[in-house]
Amino acid sequence: MTADRRAAAEQALRAEVSVCQRCPQLVAARTQVVFGSGSVDAQVMFVGEAPGANEDREGVPFVGASGRLLDQLLGGIGIEREQVYITNVLKCRPPDNRDPRSEEIANCSGYLERQVELVEPIVVVTLGNFATKLLRGSDEAITAVHGRPEECTIGSRTVRLLPVFHPAAALYRRPNLELLREDFARLAELVALGPPRQRDGAGAVAPASQPAKPPTAQPADDDAPQLDLF
Ligand code: URA
Repeated sequence: MTADRRAAAEQALRAEVSVCQRCPQLVAARTQVVFGSGSVDAQVMFVGEAPGANEDREGVPFVGASGRLLDQLLGGIGIEREQVYITNVLKCRPPDNRDPRSEEIANCSGYLERQVELVEPIVVVTLGNFATKLLRGSDEAITAVHGRPEECTIGSRTVRLLPVFHPAAALYRRPNLELLREDFARLAELVALGPPRQRDGAGAVAPASQPAKPPTAQPADDDAPQLDLF
């Protein structure tokens, strides 16, 4: 897909989701739908759990304390948030920040699939248990699978999935921060592999339709390792 078509497709999906009425309790409680943010041409997509109070107010994912830590983790590997695409399993804030319910996840998961299909990221980083369990299609906990990349088909798109702890887990338990940093350090090598081979609609294996997107170099933090890829 060309960059223009990708941007137009994202805007159309954003407009559709902004008036979603599928989950009555979430519709009643939300200020607005929090669809996603960042570059629709990104090589890396991050998927969190659900918007919180700050995100519900501002309409942008990961703008609270977890978001600030996510920005720091990205900065640590020489990436700015504008270079990646960020979204959540649920696009609406659960009241009182309760966990997403299985029927809400089911209602919303098609939107996430379509986001992956139109952004066509090389790597999808799942932040925490909800995104990891949904996209891996398994109940294995993040503690068991974090930092272990695997190929995963989301909608019609096969990506390299990298499960990592949710940033909030590092805010509450500092030892998780080092694990998060270690897992983030794996991103560059995964992106460098390029997109995995794609499956066509009939299930046959076809070569990936998309070459690795050109790198968009940005200066990293002074004390961060310099990566060629971002
Ligand atoms: N903010 C988000 O947008 N998602 C989360 O999972 C947590 C905070």
